[in-house]
Amino acid sequence: MRKKTQMIHGGISRDEHTGAVSIPVHHASTFKQDGVGNFVYEYARTGNPTRHALEELIKDLEGGYHSFAFGSGMAAISSVMHLFSTGDHVIFTDDVYGGSYRLVTKVLTKYNVDVTFVDTSDLNAVEDAIQENTKAIYVETPTNPLLKITDLAGISKLAKSKNLLMIVDNTFSTPYWQNPIELGADIVLHSATKYIGGHSDVVAGLVVVNSEQLTADMHFIQNSIGAVLGPQDSWLLVRGIRTLAVRMEEIEENAKRVADFLANHPQVSKVYYPGFENHKGHDIHTKQARGFGGMISFDAGSGEKAEEVLRKVKFFTLAESLGAVESLISLPAKMTHASIPRERRLELGITDGLIRISVGLEDAEDLIEDLQSAL
Ligand SMILES: *Cc1c(COP(=O)(O)O)cnc(C)c1O
Repeated sequence: MRKKTQMIHGGISRDEHTGAVSIPVHHASTFKQDGVGNFVYEYARTGNPTRHALEELIKDLEGGYHSFAFGSGMAAISSVMHLFSTGDHVIFTDDVYGGSYRLVTKVLTKYNVDVTFVDTSDLNAVEDAIQENTKAIYVETPTNPLLKITDLAGISKLAKSKNLLMIVDNTFSTPYWQNPIELGADIVLHSATKYIGGHSDVVAGLVVVNSEQLTADMHFIQNSIGAVLGPQDSWLLVRGIRTLAVRMEEIEENAKRVADFLANHPQVSKVYYPGFENHKGHDIHTKQARGFGGMISFDAGSGEKAEEVLRKVKFFTLAESLGAVESLISLPAKMTHASIPRERRLELGITDGLIRISVGLEDAEDLIEDLQSAL
């Protein structure tokens, strides 16, 4: 089955009992047993049929062995981190999502799980960071907000040679464009709040694993910690995934046009977009993904200028988050990355005038005219 067909027919696409082409929302917390221990579902934290339908669908889309749905992207990431124990060490992409950074530096450290942040686009730097107690490499590609690219096959080779787990946050590319398990990852996770849900109406997280052992481990953790996704939100994600392919195709077209416009604008000094041939890592991204996504960052020159642009735009909503039908705009230095000291931000390339946009499904002409007049 090709990807577009899989979005519609993958997983459990209809109700077995009634033939309904939309899976039912099972608002049940418990299930009658036909004699003690004789059941399909037992208790909804352990398993719920609507959540199961979503889990089957994302498992198919990522080409994994099993999948788990959580109450948020951070719930998914926290649960995955429970695979590790005191004394373990994990390597992370240096400009990892801010919430993930906070989790591992402020929460995991309480359990003495040791972490190192590395520019994972540099495979030698990753290899140098491996210690005796290293258990995993955790990668984001492309990253936020500078869209840095990591070579997934290269990381996989390294992880396999040292017997390390490879974990990939695939939120930015979605399973429509990039499938890290096929490139050797053991665990793929998503903030399904973004492109997978796609309509800014649900907070959710997904984890896909590639083995029976990881399935048993993650099921135990999910059931023990209990950060599960409810049936209504599970249904919203299945519904979101039905149109993921068409949304990503349309966003791709829009993003290309907006990126080209920005690159040719005299007041924009730098544009970060993986689709540009001169974007660092463009070749690697092209090898491992089928599309470039809808995220673009650009430098408006100064913090004041950037804030003026954010005030003036009409069709870009000033908000955190990304991956929605509506275009979103944000100022990383004052929003998502405000907790990072300015000096460190500048080292990373996150200037005061850097604007991040998530291109949505509006007419590209309107988006371009909007940016034109705001600039
Ligand atoms: C938003 C996001 C998360 C966190 O997900 P939530 O659903 O907000 O908890 C993790 N990783 C990336 C790349 C994200 O963009």
